[in-house]
Amino acid sequence: MSVMLEDLESRVESVKEEVIGWRRYLHENPELSFQEEKTSQFIYDTLKSFGGNLEITRPTPTSVVAKLKGGKPGRVLGVRADMDALPITEENSFEFKSKNDGVMHACGHDGHTAMLLGTAKLLLAMQPDIPGEVRFIFQHAEELFPGGAEEMVNAGVMEGVEQVIGIHLWSPLTVGKIGIRAGAFMAAPDTFYITVKGKGGHAAQPQETVDSIAVAAQVVTNLQHVVSRNLDPVDPAVLSVTKFVGGTTHNVIPGSVEMMGTVRSFRPELRTEVPALMERVIKGVTDAHGATYTFKYERGYRPVINDEAVTEKLRECLVEAFSESVVQELPPTMGGEDFSAYQQKAPGVFFYVGARNEEKDIVYPHHHPRFTVDETALPIGVKAFIHAVFKLNSEE
Ligand SMILES: [Zn+2]
Ligand SMILES: [Zn+2]
Repeated sequence: MSVMLEDLESRVESVKEEVIGWRRYLHENPELSFQEEKTSQFIYDTLKSFGGNLEITRPTPTSVVAKLKGGKPGRVLGVRADMDALPITEENSFEFKSKNDGVMHACGHDGHTAMLLGTAKLLLAMQPDIPGEVRFIFQHAEELFPGGAEEMVNAGVMEGVEQVIGIHLWSPLTVGKIGIRAGAFMAAPDTFYITVKGKGGHAAQPQETVDSIAVAAQVVTNLQHVVSRNLDPVDPAVLSVTKFVGGTTHNVIPGSVEMMGTVRSFRPELRTEVPALMERVIKGVTDAHGATYTFKYERGYRPVINDEAVTEKLRECLVEAFSESVVQELPPTMGGEDFSAYQQKAPGVFFYVGARNEEKDIVYPHHHPRFTVDETALPIGVKAFIHAVFKLNSEE
């Protein structure tokens, strides 16, 4: 391990309060996906205030990228943080709660941005000893498909990047722990839309109608067979119908019902197989009852698949930086992340830094109106990032 890392603990400690301050500022001033004007300006200004040799650009209207060339030979590492908030009304009561009504940092992206700013500040001071190049990727719009990552990749931010990493502060994981996994880590989140079209009429004369509600209910029930009966149980997938809308009052059978839902999976072939199986069910059920349908299946982000070799190197380095007991192997989750867009361009690892603290009542899930993170997780993320830079960029 480099000499520079010996006093890293005290270096991280020296920016801790500032990192927490940035996180609180961002938490108080959340902005929705693709609208992160003030947020990206704040990032830009903060990076500028560090002075030194950061090459800062704005690849898209609300994103920021900074390049730092180290003084030693080495590889190029992309380090990514997302910055967008969600359309949720915050129910926390701390003094830095959202000032922007109906918008909230309920996923921890405020913390991601703050950690990456702290990392940039510290690495700038260590520049002569840094191997290779670090590319700080401050990404907009993770929460809203088609996502900011794809836009940034198309804008060329990954050009020359040889490896890429990203952290998610993770509320199911206790603060002090780091969760990592090689291979399939987060699912591909796809969306579907179904309309069942029957024939409306009087509720007392069903024989004159094609009851779209009764047929659509059968569609929902039968769709459950796609995952539970048609797919291999060890090939993970989820199908949830999450919206079901039809009808207006007690004595009218509505002419149509609209549904929406999500499919989560890992294996690429499933994203072709599942829509075909779904359509077979929808067509069969509606045909059987004299109804018709429309069906649209939209592919969301690709699954996050962590590169085996880079994950192994990163795991070793995290165990060295923290300890064996801190770094845990986690099972995959069915949540989605557009970090996968960067993994199309370079081998990469996405990993979790625990943010949960039962004693402080920091227990709410991501996207909950009372979500927050234990801020003692922030210096852990900074330390992890810096160790990763030295380890992954060193030529071996
Ligand atoms: Zn989220
Ligand atoms: Zn998130």
